[in-house]
Amino acid sequence: MIVGRFAPSPTGAQHLGNARTYLLAYWAARHAEGRLIFRVEDVDSPRVKSWAVQQSLDDLRWLGLDWDEGPDIGGPRGPYQQTKRVAFYEQILQRLRSANRIYPCTCTRKDIEAAGSAPHFDHEPAVYPGTCSRWRVGDPVPDSGTYSWRFRLKAGPDRFNDRVLGPQICSPMEALGDFPVTQKSGSPSYQLAVVVDDLMMGITEVVRGNDLIASTFRQLQIFEALSAKGPTYAHVPLVLGGDGRRLAKRHGDTRLATLREQGVKPHHVITWAARSAGLVPEHTTLQSAEELISRFQWSNLNQQEVVVCPETFGDS
Ligand code: GLU
Repeated sequence: MIVGRFAPSPTGAQHLGNARTYLLAYWAARHAEGRLIFRVEDVDSPRVKSWAVQQSLDDLRWLGLDWDEGPDIGGPRGPYQQTKRVAFYEQILQRLRSANRIYPCTCTRKDIEAAGSAPHFDHEPAVYPGTCSRWRVGDPVPDSGTYSWRFRLKAGPDRFNDRVLGPQICSPMEALGDFPVTQKSGSPSYQLAVVVDDLMMGITEVVRGNDLIASTFRQLQIFEALSAKGPTYAHVPLVLGGDGRRLAKRHGDTRLATLREQGVKPHHVITWAARSAGLVPEHTTLQSAEELISRFQWSNLNQQEVVVCPETFGDS
């Protein structure tokens, strides 16, 4: 049984790029008669906005998506909001600490930028130079508030088979470096929370943007350190603005909430997503998310990034 998930970060409004990824996650899971979990990823960012949680639920409902477990309907594997799951992350941190797979790190971002080398992936921080990695279980821990816990990577290479991109290979130790699993405040990082949640919620298939491939190599090592197997990953192409860069505010207003207010019909967004993903021909009539489930095929999915502008839906 496939178990997929929607994992929005409520750091702002959901836009067309997010919508396309959620639709693909939905079609993939429902086509396989799988289940879906809605999980709010609000643990890692000072940028979280309280209004954005409810708005993301409204946006996905507007698109006609449904889920089997989530913050609004409950379920056996909750809570479904990361800030309410902190006790689970603490337990796993304890395990990783006892196994000497994490160490306290007092380095600042500046220290790392000065001493680290450039990562092999776009948009990733400098490779951690290993300054604090000498720490061992039983050594004293620095003063509270002055350190984060950092994950100790094992030498690669690591591999996984992506459902969209095929075989992927990377030596995360050289290409990315040890990475934080908490912040200096002690709160868990995205990398830790996402693995604990995917594991505890029994997620078998992760569909997300291809900007997270580097993170997948990090997360797979956390799974391994917990003697667990990671899910299947499908990294889907991103939606770009007219200048070829990842969709952002400067490209105009592509927020789903705005489109809703303007009276755009969800079927326009849904059918655009299916067409641009190569799942249906260009001239297909407008359809609902549910009607398009039967059209989903991993083998038909486009590998190209998609360019969109807000005007695409302006005349609907
Ligand atoms: N919460 C992340 C986002 O909205 C997704 C992370 C993931 O799918 O693992 O970009």
